[in-house]
Amino acid sequence: MMNRSVRFAALGALLWGVSACGDPVLPEQTFTQYVFGTQVEIIIRDTDAATAKAANDKLALDFARMHKDWHAWKPGELSDLNAAFAAGQSKAVSPFVKPLIEQSQTFEDLSDGLFNPALGAVIGAWGFHADEKPKGHRPDLAAIRAMAASKPSMSDVVFDGDVASSTNPLVQLDFGGFAKGVALDRAEQVLRSMGIENALVNAGGDINTLSDNQPWTIGIRDPKAWGVIATVVLAPGEDIYTSGNYERFREIDGVRYAHIIDPRNGMPVEHIVSATVITHSGALADAAATALSVAGPNDWYRIAKRMGIKYVVLVDDTGTVYLNPAMRERLVFTSEEIPKIVESAPLP
Ligand code: ADP
Ligand code: MG
Repeated sequence: MMNRSVRFAALGALLWGVSACGDPVLPEQTFTQYVFGTQVEIIIRDTDAATAKAANDKLALDFARMHKDWHAWKPGELSDLNAAFAAGQSKAVSPFVKPLIEQSQTFEDLSDGLFNPALGAVIGAWGFHADEKPKGHRPDLAAIRAMAASKPSMSDVVFDGDVASSTNPLVQLDFGGFAKGVALDRAEQVLRSMGIENALVNAGGDINTLSDNQPWTIGIRDPKAWGVIATVVLAPGEDIYTSGNYERFREIDGVRYAHIIDPRNGMPVEHIVSATVITHSGALADAAATALSVAGPNDWYRIAKRMGIKYVVLVDDTGTVYLNPAMRERLVFTSEEIPKIVESAPLP
């Protein structure tokens, strides 16, 4: 979602160099696309210009289809399905959408319900189903509480073959919390299938990488100020995702309401400014970053453990940094102004 500004992104370009076998180095190629409401940057190394361009063209087509058919409120397959659920009807689901439903059922379970893409009605009621930042008066809180109390869940979605229905009419699917991760995992497969071994795809700070021998160095953005709080070198194939309430929020009477919603009460999360995770799947990383934003400083460790995440860093609205020891070892802090670092027990 969101940001039109260029995110810190990969500093990987600083590191490009001779390939291991001493072949002549091909220049790194960078492409920019605008999709999913953000800027997507694709950096391809060790690849001839024609292949890199063909890869970028293929990704542009794939992303456009994902954007349309996975969109929570604009016309496309998902919004048709949501209309059917609201009307109490069942509907056939294509193989393009079904895996997202199944994957998000797993992630909802793993996150103890904190990652919940069935919350579309609540997210819409907060005004986040719009391209622009929502403006205006406070939404109807009683209605929002009532929606949350009906506990829409991915487990309400049941399949008869490929035909889906929802046992709860308030279920509205919104994959905004992990669609970028799924999209970037698919992009990675496309790049590999074209013989590309060294690449990075950055969707507004959510990043998948491929590398055989040249590590990517990534800057973790300081959520409170323009700049980078720390850098981290990714191991081959690692992905890094950040969820935050610092870019997309609504402001009512001077109070900021985040676009990340706590499924337990329908209210936007408070306190957390950003949650960053590193793992080997974009979809899991994206879902986990959203779930950990909801979990917050007191509960993130439990959720990270349940989700099998090994590297986490959270920043709260006072600038305090929360992380696990293995993450701390990997980070090179670039900001001198970190008020406090709170280290958890090791993650298994
Ligand atoms: P970003 O888009 O900033 O990377 P996220 O990955 O956290 O951040 O996605 C936020 C989006 O996820 C929201 O705009 C909304 O569509 C959706 N969402 C909000 N709360 C939840 C939640 N608890 N579980 C799953 N998805 C959510
Ligand atoms: Mg997410």
